[in-house]
Amino acid sequence: MIIHRAPWLLPVSSPPLADGGIAVQAGIIVAVGPFRDIRRSWLGAQVIEHPNCVLLPGLINAHAHLELSHLSQLGRQPAPPSFPAWIERLLAARSHAAADEATMLQAARQALAAQQAEGVVALADISNSGLTSQLASGFDGRLLVFKEYLGLRKDSAAAALRRLEQESDEQACTGHAPYSTSPALLRGLKARANQLGHVFPIHTAESAAEIELLRSGGPFRAFLEERNLWDGSFQPMGDQGGAVRWLHQHGLLDSHTLCVHCVHIDTEEIALLAASGAKVCLCPGSNRSLGVGKPPLASLLRHGLLPAIGTDSLASNPELSIWREMRLLAEEHPSVPPESIVAMATLGGAAALGLDKRLGSLEAGKEAVILAAALEKVPPTTAEMIERLTQERIPCVQQLDEACGGMQGRKLFRPPLRSSRRLSQRNRCCGVPYAAGNGHQSAVVAVKNDRVQACLGYQRQ
Ligand SMILES: [Zn+2]
Repeated sequence: MIIHRAPWLLPVSSPPLADGGIAVQAGIIVAVGPFRDIRRSWLGAQVIEHPNCVLLPGLINAHAHLELSHLSQLGRQPAPPSFPAWIERLLAARSHAAADEATMLQAARQALAAQQAEGVVALADISNSGLTSQLASGFDGRLLVFKEYLGLRKDSAAAALRRLEQESDEQACTGHAPYSTSPALLRGLKARANQLGHVFPIHTAESAAEIELLRSGGPFRAFLEERNLWDGSFQPMGDQGGAVRWLHQHGLLDSHTLCVHCVHIDTEEIALLAASGAKVCLCPGSNRSLGVGKPPLASLLRHGLLPAIGTDSLASNPELSIWREMRLLAEEHPSVPPESIVAMATLGGAAALGLDKRLGSLEAGKEAVILAAALEKVPPTTAEMIERLTQERIPCVQQLDEACGGMQGRKLFRPPLRSSRRLSQRNRCCGVPYAAGNGHQSAVVAVKNDRVQACLGYQRQ
């Protein structure tokens, strides 16, 4: 038994705790509570101290496209004039780079490593090629790869359904979006996903152009027609149309459906999402880059929905970072409590991916997938602690490894090793403020057998 002790615990499923303890055995959380109580219950247990740290559950990235990582120049461009214009840019960039599979995989591998480095422990990846499945063995967390199908024309949808029959049961498959994938194809994909117990992510209500297409046409229809992707079989919904209503009409909304983006939805559609048990994933960084708007987060929360957070891809987001996505949400939705934003990045993501029995919160029975976020100083109040997690550029983060005594697992951030040996005291993690030549203002130092293993510095920005 090991007890992790920190000045702050953020269990997510229960209120934050000052001077908290987490008892862990064989990789499973046994108890979470005030350190004094936990210590009293397991007097013989080894205690690992995490000074200056907030312990919280591992982060979940509920929507990414790793295979677009080599197109990162797109995500750094100014917002496109319209959403179809961005798709046009994406298709052009993709066809230009399509031949180079090795480059694509290498960029995807780097993006995934960076996700791991910031404390992402599960990631839902949408892939057209399915190639990113190859990266799973190099990722310490759970990489869920969904092979994405699309096709709006009757003939292309029928061909896609035939291809779908050839997929192995282990391969989760999904549809792209209502504006690109015919109802018949989506129903086939959804029926298969339900039969196999897979989550069904789908881009939903990302742009105003999408809603216009579903209602009557607009620039998206012209875009599809120009590319011979439109055969007139699509039935517009009329003035009351909406992407969530469209999914509902076609029987695609249930508790395993994950609606990604949900920017352009109305209150009735939020109620439909809540009633169906469908999950929602927000991608604020991508939405901002593409200039498509902001989702009605406060209203989603009021209806009892706890959205997940996704980074989307480097082709529509300058940075893949769940910490940054949290900061953007905090900035764009000041009325939303910061603790809800942390809950979205952890428990919301776990629920969206069907992993909430194991991940997403610090509570007895769940896996001890715990992050230690080191802060420069211990925040005096709960409110300040959570605000700093969601509003500052955080920090030094490490995933704890119970079996190795807390620090020899993953060293998530690896700035140059530069630290004072006098900090060495057995195997431990020290949160220290210091000013070293490398410019770090604060650091966490990992020590094993009196030797500094890593100095994990960070600079507040
Ligand atoms: Zn996406």
